[in-house]
Amino acid sequence: MTFVINPVPAAAVPVQGGAAGALFPVHRIYCVGRNYVEHAIEMGHSGREAPFFFMKPADAVLPVAEGTVGAMHYPTLTKSLHHELELVVAIGKGGRDIPAAQALEHVWGYAIGLDMTRRDLQNDAKKQGRPWCISKGFDESAPIGPIRRAEDCSLTPDTKISLLVNGQPRQASTLGKLIWSVAEIIEHLSKAWELQPGDLIYTGTPEGVAAVEVGDTLRASLEGVGTLEVKLIPAA
Ligand code: MN
Repeated sequence: MTFVINPVPAAAVPVQGGAAGALFPVHRIYCVGRNYVEHAIEMGHSGREAPFFFMKPADAVLPVAEGTVGAMHYPTLTKSLHHELELVVAIGKGGRDIPAAQALEHVWGYAIGLDMTRRDLQNDAKKQGRPWCISKGFDESAPIGPIRRAEDCSLTPDTKISLLVNGQPRQASTLGKLIWSVAEIIEHLSKAWELQPGDLIYTGTPEGVAAVEVGDTLRASLEGVGTLEVKLIPAA
């Protein structure tokens, strides 16, 4: 294959556990909105709506290897960069119209991630009925820890998900508080798009979203899966 210009290398995320050393190639990034009741309420909603989705570009991932600290540039155009702590599902087998009962067969693994958000721009977009791309899909907006194979994870409703900022607790919940489970998300998502190997799904954030500043260090953990540490540095 000859290209007329040099293609940008495909986005990829490190893998840990049984397949350590290998990379997971990223195809698309899907995100679920308002998937924990308390977060929906803090954003002014009832928490009773059907799941809805938005996307980030694949190369918005900011992969951070276990035991290292990633550097995220504070993005342009915002004065309110918010963290959203999220379970990330990595799809290994594609499909469309996948029933929830078979959905977990399509999951390759799990990771901890952050859906970073230009909240001021998102609030403007909501008021004006405009798309969320600029508030959600910017460069480095999807920090993610290493992906662990599903068979090496034992996620239960009691599995803890948490975020510290500069060592102080900011977000803490359990996976049992997801309004739509991973299997239900895959069922809904695969009605709208044909899922492909390499798709990532950010499954929504619990309550406690808030702003971070240059110099802050974010440490996100998903019990039994991994951690993700990111420091905010000045714009490039
Ligand atoms: Mn989110």
